[in-house]
Amino acid sequence: MSVLAEPGTNDQANVPMTTWVEVLVDCPGAQGIFTYRLLPPLIVQPGDLLSVPFGMQQVGAIAIRCLEQPPADLEAKQIRDVDATLQSRFFSATYWQLLNRVADYYCTPLMQVVRVALPPGLLSRSQRRVRLVGRKDQGERIKDKDATSLSLTSSPPHPLTPAAQQLLTLLHASKTGDYSWQYLQRQCQGAYRGLQELVKDGLVANYLEPPTTVRPKQRLAVTLVASPAPFDLTPRQQEILAVLRRQGGELWLTDLLQLCQTSSTTLKGLAQKGQVVIQPREVLRREGGPTVTADVAKSLTPDQAAALEQLQALSGFTQVLLHGVTGSGKTEVYLQAIAPLLQQGQSALVLVPEIGLTPQLTDRFRARFGDRVCVYHSALSEGERYDTWRQMLNGEAQIVIGTRSAVFAPLPRLGLIVLDEEHDSSFKQDQPAPCYHARTVAEWRAELEQCPLLLGSATPSLESWVRIRGQGAEGRREERGERGERGERGEEPESTPHLELKTQSSLAKRHVHKVAPSELALLKTLPPSFPRLFLSLPSRVYDRPLPPIEVVDMRQELHQGNRSVFSRSLRLALIAMKERQQQGILFIHRRGHSTFVSCRSCGYVVTCPNCDVSMAYHHSHTEATPLLRCHYCNYNRLLPNDCPSCQSTYFKHFGSGTQQIAQALTQQFPDLRSIRFDSDTTRTKGAHRALLTHFAAGEADILVGTQMLAKGIDLPQVTLVGILSADGLLHMADYRASERAFQTLTQVAGRCGRGDDPGRVILQTYSPEAAVIQAVQQHAYERFVDDELQHRSQLHYPPYSRLVLLRFASTSPVAVQQAAERVALALADLEAQGVERLGPAPATILRVARRYHWQILLKLPLDQPVTLPDATALRVLCASSVSLTIDIDPLHLL
Ligand code: ADP
Ligand code: ZN
Ligand code: ZN
Repeated sequence: MSVLAEPGTNDQANVPMTTWVEVLVDCPGAQGIFTYRLLPPLIVQPGDLLSVPFGMQQVGAIAIRCLEQPPADLEAKQIRDVDATLQSRFFSATYWQLLNRVADYYCTPLMQVVRVALPPGLLSRSQRRVRLVGRKDQGERIKDKDATSLSLTSSPPHPLTPAAQQLLTLLHASKTGDYSWQYLQRQCQGAYRGLQELVKDGLVANYLEPPTTVRPKQRLAVTLVASPAPFDLTPRQQEILAVLRRQGGELWLTDLLQLCQTSSTTLKGLAQKGQVVIQPREVLRREGGPTVTADVAKSLTPDQAAALEQLQALSGFTQVLLHGVTGSGKTEVYLQAIAPLLQQGQSALVLVPEIGLTPQLTDRFRARFGDRVCVYHSALSEGERYDTWRQMLNGEAQIVIGTRSAVFAPLPRLGLIVLDEEHDSSFKQDQPAPCYHARTVAEWRAELEQCPLLLGSATPSLESWVRIRGQGAEGRREERGERGERGERGEEPESTPHLELKTQSSLAKRHVHKVAPSELALLKTLPPSFPRLFLSLPSRVYDRPLPPIEVVDMRQELHQGNRSVFSRSLRLALIAMKERQQQGILFIHRRGHSTFVSCRSCGYVVTCPNCDVSMAYHHSHTEATPLLRCHYCNYNRLLPNDCPSCQSTYFKHFGSGTQQIAQALTQQFPDLRSIRFDSDTTRTKGAHRALLTHFAAGEADILVGTQMLAKGIDLPQVTLVGILSADGLLHMADYRASERAFQTLTQVAGRCGRGDDPGRVILQTYSPEAAVIQAVQQHAYERFVDDELQHRSQLHYPPYSRLVLLRFASTSPVAVQQAAERVALALADLEAQGVERLGPAPATILRVARRYHWQILLKLPLDQPVTLPDATALRVLCASSVSLTIDIDPLHLL
């Protein structure tokens, strides 16, 4: 970790003699950019890590840009001096461009982007140290500056001041030749000046030491003790002991509690009876990391081989869409595309939607590539993130698998970026700012690093589909019927400039934050035609069939007297499944409190007369009059008591969670053992892996869960998928409802029949006639996309427009509404630029966590640039109690 600038590089020679530098400081609460002076011979470049005085402290800082003139609004004597360079070019030039581009596009202060990209506390936790400079380094440094002064290397050019001498003596006395700066400051008066002198003479150097690895936390483990069972064990306690025994006699306390749905009091009871011991541990004896057996490349199916061949023929930046049906073996293609890269010393980045997916996928990568795979996601502890991050900077080619923030992983020599399940909305950050989409950032990154970006999905997002197929609804319609267009090069788009808006960014033109002009120029846009490739895996491996999907009309069930949440079909299928000792998945859609209202008798759904979206049930507080409201235009009406269409009294808002379903399952099928797999049961670290492992080991018959189930789980023994309530997905008050419903239902259905036994899917709904349901049933992705694109283009929604969502939140309902109205007024001029404004309107869930939410939705045209008002100017219009978030390309309009 040398602090010396690398000698002899060209760009350094071209750096003008700058004397001021703008920096971001890493200090809680410090916003904005600060200017410091550089005293010769200090040379700083953007991306360097610095140490600067800030208030009474010394803090870490990142150099943003160099100035030849001090800022006009600052007096020279107000400007303080940079202390030291801690690490030169901590960020590569392309990495730095990427961060700037994200900040600019998503209207976020750069430091906020830096905070997402860097592991937490990188600057503050690192320790500044000082070391003696070795003869070799010193020689290089002087050679670099002035070749004639080589003779000076062995002794200082002039007598040292006492402070400098004292520091030097201290350092020489130390075994390692270095000390922490803090220690030196304590030992020596005038250490600061002394150090500057020594650094100037090239005798010592500053450097940054990462915090020492955090030791793993001790956790409570429960261990089975071999002792005769007393007679007073309750059946519950016996059950718990049986579970523990099946698990090899030892489990983390948290895992056992979760697995048995029991309390720690019950476990303490068992400990008192001498049946188990509960004590702290660092690792479980049998843990030692998941054991993965090494595997080798599978011989590819013809489709896989064709896809791989085209991938490997690519050079430079190309956007690739790999459309492969569920179970078609996309992962094998990723693995074999990455293998040769590693051999050539290149790295690969693999992004996945959620942690739940990561253990299985990670295992597959580990089995192939061993410990060159690291995992990076926000559920890692701070220490783990930090260590992984440092490891990425060490320069060795490696594979990083991670969730959206891993798109910033500082990997050397990127050769490929993969986004698996690219349609998944978890790639978008809703809050806090920057509200970035990892796919968008990955695209910029691939372009900057000149490597391919591989987007894989069985149900590609409409954005990616249109982008890479290069056609709109009209073009697709004409082409329909032509199948098997596997592996075709996307034709150079005739005129898709409107689809390029993402990067040509009319938005990039407005700079709400201080961004240096030099960096502005780097916000290069994609060329109007960029290299694209479409690949397809149209069938499952071994030509396994996609599971047949039976649609059950739940209105009929009710009319025929079945009021249970399980249709007769599903009931029979569950029994048959148990008899054959196979496994099943029950899927329930549930998201937040977002609710629509529908009739259980006729399926009628209340929609907004103005906006073509389902109206949402508003529940602000218990005594409030129940209202239905459109959160796009704020139209509202009373919640009717019975169905406006058929007068049935089975008219109510939906909402049944996994817990209720699991209970109903136990009541109606006492033999079936189930595991709940949802955000409640997977909250603790490692819970996803634990639950999936138990299920895979046959410790339950049924996995009951939410959206998480739709994300790439590959369990060959699953033969039945029951979708309990497709309707929650169909009627979300959102223009993306259909797309999301199609994706989720297709993905969930795709979890079965992946092994030797064929699978079947039972899809329960109150709207069997819905186009989405039909398309899902027929596995007709392309037809669905065609219809949906036409709908979107008519209503002027993405990918035929760009959305910007302004979200207002406040504890004061009055202040938040006023702010939204004032901002709306300020946005009135935008109409002249072709911008459509919807709202202001209260958000679906008006009050969340004691805060009231309002929003304004802007629809921007694609074919002309739009200049939005400065974000800061808009914030000024809001009372201080109101927070304003600007979400660019929002996915959720809640
Ligand atoms: P997808 O991600 O497309 O849904 P997966 O990559 O999970 O599909 O593959 C489905 C299953 O098929 C996995 O269990 C995988 O190991 C297996 N598989 C993939 N490719 C091959 C192949 N060429 N030969 C045999 N099995 C394969
Ligand atoms: Zn409306
Ligand atoms: Zn009705």
